[in-house]
Amino acid sequence: MKIISFLQLSVASGLLSLGPIAETPAPARPAGATAAPLHVVATTPDLAALAIAIGGDAVEVKALAKATEDPHFVDAKPSHIVTLNKADVLIEGGAELEIGWLPPLLESARNAKLAIGAPGRVLANQGIRMLEIPATFDRARGDVHAKGNPHFLIDPLNAKIVAANIADHLAQVDPKSAALYKANLAKFNATLDQRVAAWQKQLAPFKGAKVVTYHRDFVYLAERFGLVVVETLEEKPGIAPSPAHIAAVIGTMKSSNAKVILVQPFQNRKTAETVARQTNGAVLDVSLEPGAIKGTDDYFLLMDYIVNTLTTAFQAAK
Ligand SMILES: [Zn+2]
Repeated sequence: MKIISFLQLSVASGLLSLGPIAETPAPARPAGATAAPLHVVATTPDLAALAIAIGGDAVEVKALAKATEDPHFVDAKPSHIVTLNKADVLIEGGAELEIGWLPPLLESARNAKLAIGAPGRVLANQGIRMLEIPATFDRARGDVHAKGNPHFLIDPLNAKIVAANIADHLAQVDPKSAALYKANLAKFNATLDQRVAAWQKQLAPFKGAKVVTYHRDFVYLAERFGLVVVETLEEKPGIAPSPAHIAAVIGTMKSSNAKVILVQPFQNRKTAETVARQTNGAVLDVSLEPGAIKGTDDYFLLMDYIVNTLTTAFQAAK
């Protein structure tokens, strides 16, 4: 007698594997029905915010990482696999920010639409000039920036490049809405140009201002607006601060007269506070992700918040 295993039964009944679900053709849409929105998944909320701006009503956007979560270390959940399995488009950074958690999720999701090279797979950093590509790299020690600094979207001119990449891929996957994506991109760029001019004007008096960050996460912002990141509380990207390193940071802040420490919600604020107390500095709560801080739900609101927060702190430190 042939014994049918639970696994075979489960697969046959569609209970277990996501593979057969992915390979089953979707039922044809009845004629005259309104087009269903394109299912767009972004790895992080900043990419999702751009996808919403470009996709408008033609897309439904989900982010895998929470706004308050460290994007290097996202908790992989079964619901992420389901989301990826149903996606028409996946937008990821393209610079290994998500390497610790996205590949196993994608493997389980078995969605051919999201294969590398497919129009449904967007590598946001295409065309971005990557900063800090390391000469040496030791993942074994916890170092996390193998392909250069992956936090590029906080430079608003990089946001323009990413928005264009997203518009290009959405139009390929969903040609019937190509005109909408093009129009939304033009609108996004027009707003961005206006805002960048305002942000540059606002920060111009503080050119050369020195800041400390917890992680190397505001490097592109600093470069765009002429700020100087003199130290990070982490010794290297992803490597927690040691007491010796903290002492060195305090020394550098004192000698360079840096008064501002930028911290994201998931980073160790206590360490930053300790350093701030000893340097007469201020800890600023900021984020790379729209929505992590109240009132920063889209890219422009987030950038407004960051520029305003910096301006207030620099004025106070003068
Ligand atoms: Zn990083």
